[in-house]
Amino acid sequence: MNKFFKDKWVGILFLLAFSLISLILFLILLISKLHSKELSNNLKNDKSLILLIGDGMGLPIISAWDYYKKDSIDNKYSILDGFDGTFLVRTRSKDKIITDSAAAATAYATGYNVDNYQVGLINNNQRVKTIMDLAKDKNKSTGIVVLCTLTHATPAAFYAYSSKRSDEQFIANQLIYSNIDVAIGGGHKYFKNLIPKFKQKGYTILENIYQINELKNNKQKINEINKLLAFLSENHPPKQSERNYKLAELSELAINLLSKNPNGFFLMIEASQIDWYGHDNLFKDQINEMKDYEETIKFLLSYYKTNRNVLILTLGDHDCGGLTLIDYNASKFDDNFKINYSSNYHTSEHIPAFYKGTINYQIKPIVNNTEIFYIMKSFLIDN
Ligand SMILES: [Zn+2]
Repeated sequence: MNKFFKDKWVGILFLLAFSLISLILFLILLISKLHSKELSNNLKNDKSLILLIGDGMGLPIISAWDYYKKDSIDNKYSILDGFDGTFLVRTRSKDKIITDSAAAATAYATGYNVDNYQVGLINNNQRVKTIMDLAKDKNKSTGIVVLCTLTHATPAAFYAYSSKRSDEQFIANQLIYSNIDVAIGGGHKYFKNLIPKFKQKGYTILENIYQINELKNNKQKINEINKLLAFLSENHPPKQSERNYKLAELSELAINLLSKNPNGFFLMIEASQIDWYGHDNLFKDQINEMKDYEETIKFLLSYYKTNRNVLILTLGDHDCGGLTLIDYNASKFDDNFKINYSSNYHTSEHIPAFYKGTINYQIKPIVNNTEIFYIMKSFLIDN
């Protein structure tokens, strides 16, 4: 081989080796880049949690609804059996075996038991952070949708402190400091003087159900809205048979707004009035409220199908009315089925909770109501 060819081969070999090394380096770089992207994806917390509370929804009314739906409505049992798991909750408050809704919601919202009729908790001169505050700290959006005043015990426990739940004006004054993104409910009268403040902070205000219905159908406006405060009524919204809107539709509107945040959201929905007709021992009205509750679940489960990064948790806060289903001779559950109420107030039975989604938390068969806070926190906040 003469020198010319020899040099040529050395050149080609050198070129080949150089190309090979470059290719290997490039591949290493690419793989490490992909790996770090995957890592940061894993670290990114974009989870959302929807807590659906049926106020006063103990096991008796769930059982009644389940049978009633099958035998008197559509030949199908309740879709509560579409959830992934269930467990029982002890409902006692700090001072009483029978809780009220203020202490019950405070347990869920903060992880602390308080005395009946107290909303939230003060510690070291500061309101103890609720699950909603913790979601805010993680740059998630937060929302409340209720069928009572926005200042009623259950919603109040998620954003306010008051030693007396009945001080609804004092509670209303605190909503703005929660920096909440979506609040839909009754109680317009408590907010009239506060509305300029909310507007200043960038809230869109809807003052009645007609304005809310208009927004529901306006996708462009939903995209434009930053924060929403929407009122269904001056005081409490009417009962189901007199409402011309569904809790499911209001929940959908809230989720359409909240889910714009890529970091996820926390939403508390309350089927508020199941409790009230338990107090009044009005079975048909209780069943009607259960229907509205079930339609909300139906919507949430369909939302879950395309949004797996969500946990849906639904439960009561206590039983109410002491309902028993006692028709020994009945072969089906219709309007003639014999029932009995034993109380006009709440009772102390444990209540069932249902969840859809993946929980990495060891849930015992029976948990204290305060543990609901930790179950939610482990999914939504801790990564
Ligand atoms: Zn009640």
